[in-house]
Amino acid sequence: MTNAVQILHDVFGYPAFRGQQETIITTVAQGRHALVLMPTGAGKSLCYQIPALMRDGVAIVVSPLVALMQDQVAALVNNGVAAACIYSGTSSEEIRRIADAIEIHALKLLYVAPERLVMPRFLQFLHQSQISLFAIDEAHCVSQWGHDFRPEYQQLGILADEFPSVPRIALTATADTATRADIQYYLQLSDAPVFISSFNRPNIDYQVIEKNNGKKQLLEFIKSQMRGENGIVYCLSRKRVEDIAAFLNEQGLTAVPYHAGLEWSVRQQNQRRFTQEDGIIVVATVAFGMGIDKPDVRFVAHLDMPASIEHFYQESGRAGRDGLPAVSWLCYGLNDWVLLRERIQLADRDEQQKQIDLQKLDAMLGFCETVDCRRQLLLRYFDETSQPCGHCDNCVSPPSRFDGTILAQKLLSCVYRVGQRFATGHVIDVLRGRETDWIKRFGHQQLSTFGIGQELTAKEWRAVIRQCVAAGYLIVDIANQALQLTQAARNVLKDQQTVWLRPLKREKIHTSTHNDVWLRTEREERLWQALRQWRKTRANADNVPAYAIFADRTLQDLVQHPPTRISDLNQIYGLGERKIDRFGQDILAICQQWQA
Ligand code: ADP
Ligand code: ZN
Repeated sequence: MTNAVQILHDVFGYPAFRGQQETIITTVAQGRHALVLMPTGAGKSLCYQIPALMRDGVAIVVSPLVALMQDQVAALVNNGVAAACIYSGTSSEEIRRIADAIEIHALKLLYVAPERLVMPRFLQFLHQSQISLFAIDEAHCVSQWGHDFRPEYQQLGILADEFPSVPRIALTATADTATRADIQYYLQLSDAPVFISSFNRPNIDYQVIEKNNGKKQLLEFIKSQMRGENGIVYCLSRKRVEDIAAFLNEQGLTAVPYHAGLEWSVRQQNQRRFTQEDGIIVVATVAFGMGIDKPDVRFVAHLDMPASIEHFYQESGRAGRDGLPAVSWLCYGLNDWVLLRERIQLADRDEQQKQIDLQKLDAMLGFCETVDCRRQLLLRYFDETSQPCGHCDNCVSPPSRFDGTILAQKLLSCVYRVGQRFATGHVIDVLRGRETDWIKRFGHQQLSTFGIGQELTAKEWRAVIRQCVAAGYLIVDIANQALQLTQAARNVLKDQQTVWLRPLKREKIHTSTHNDVWLRTEREERLWQALRQWRKTRANADNVPAYAIFADRTLQDLVQHPPTRISDLNQIYGLGERKIDRFGQDILAICQQWQA
C-alpha cells in the first residue's frame, strides 16, 4: 500500500494533511467504516479519494448532484487519477467503456447517483467487480429533517447487507444530532467511529453592516475589497436577484442571476458559467448553493438577512473553501426581519414549527446586533466554545456602547401607551411627534409619549427597536406586526436594568483590499495576472473550471516563490507530478518572462 502522505504530495501536490484527514484516511484504508462530519471546505473529498488510491479495486462514490460529480471527476482526472461518473445522461457506450475499465482494474473512482446504485442490475455488476470502498457524500440527504432530503438515499442501507466487508464512509457538513442519528440508522453505521471537526472557518472574516441603501453598499464593498474576485450575492427575492445582477453588470462587473423562477436551461448555464469562469459573481436566492463546489469563491455577500444562523453558516461557508482568506459580508435592516417574519407566518407549517422558526430568526438578528465576537457567537450556536477571534469586524474595531436606558424606556413606554397594537412605523411617528392621519385617527397626539423622542431620526429609532428586539425586551406579534413588551421589559421600565446600545450611527468598519494582504509589488501583480490569464485560456481549452487547472493558492505560491527550474515546482502548493508534467514548462516560461 502506498503511503497516504506520499499520495497527498505526489498526486494532489499538498504538503500536509488538515485536521483529522489522516486518521480518517487510515481508518478507511484499513477497511473500517467511518462517519465524517466536517464543515464545508475542510477537505472531505480527500478522506475517501486517498483511501481509494491506497486500496485495490474501484471506489464507488454516491453523490446527489450531477454537477458535483462532474466537477470532482474533472479535478481528479486533472491530477492524473482514473475517475469517471455515471448519471442519467451517460450514454450506454460510455457505460460499457467504464465497465471494461473496471474489469481490467483501470478505474480507481466511480461516481454514481444514488438511484443508479440501488438498481438490481448495477448491484449485480458490482458483485462481479472488486470494490475498494463506498463513499456516501452529502450523507445528510438520508434525513427528512434537513432541507436536502433524497428518498433514494434511505435505500443505501442495502450496501451494508450486500457488501458487508467493504468499508463505507459517509460524509456531511450538517452537524445536528437528529441528522447524525438518521445517517447512522439508515446507512447502518451505528458502530462506526464518528469524526467531528470544529466548525470554525478560520479563513473567513465576518463583516456585518446595517442597511442603508444596500445596493450601493454592496457595490462599495465589491469595488473596495473584492474587485475581480469570484463571489456569491444572496438576496431574499427573485425580483431583487434580477435587479442586482443587472445593476452589477451595468457597473462593469460580470454577474449572472440564479433563482428557481428562471428556466432550467438558463439556470444550468449560469451555474456552469459561475463554476467555470474566473472573476464572476452569481446573484442568487437560497435556491443556489448545494453542490456548488468552487473552491476560490472569495466572498459571500448577504444583501438581506438570512432566516437563521444555520442558513447563514451554510451559505457564508461557500466562501474560501481553498483555505485562503475570504469574506462573509452581511447587510441587514429591520425591514428584512419584518419580511422574514411574514414569510414564516404565511408558510404552510404547523404552529409549533413556526415558533421554532421565529426563534431561529431572532437568534439571527441577535448575531447581527451583537457587540461581541461574531465567530464566537456562531460557534456557540453549534455548541463549540472558543475565544474572541481577533479578525471579525467586532474584534477588529470593537463597537463602543452607550447607556441607552432612557431611549429604551421612552420606546417601551410608547409601545405600552399605544396598547401594544401598532407596528414600528407608527410607534416611531408617535415618538417623534408627527401628526399623521393615523395618529389623529387614534388620538395618539394626546398620549404622554407623543413627541418625547424628537432627538432621534426615524432611522435611529429603528436601530433602537432592533436592539431591543435582539436583547429580548420587545417582540413582534405574528398576526399584525405589532410591537409588544416582554417580561424583561418591565425591569427596564422600572429602572432596574441598564440597557447598553451600540452606536445608532455605525462607525466605519475596518477593511482592507483583499489582495493587499499578499500582493505587494507591481512585479508580483503582473505575474499574478499573467498566470491567471494563462489559467483561463488553459481551462477554456480543456473545458474545465479554472480551479481544476490550479487553485489560487498555487498561483499565489508561484508568485511568491517564482521557480527558475522544473525541480523548483515540486515545492509549490497544489502541484503533483501529473500537473508538473503537463504544465511545468508553460509555467516556468511565464514566470521567467514576467519576473524580469
Ligand atoms: P469539502 O468537500 O469538505 O467541502 P473539499 O474536499 O472540496 O471540501 O476540499 C476543499 C478544498 O481544500 C479543495 O480545493 C481541496 O483540494 C483542498 N484541500 C483538501 N485537503 C487539503 C490539504 N490537506 N491541504 C491542502 N488543500 C486541501
Ligand atoms: Zn471575532
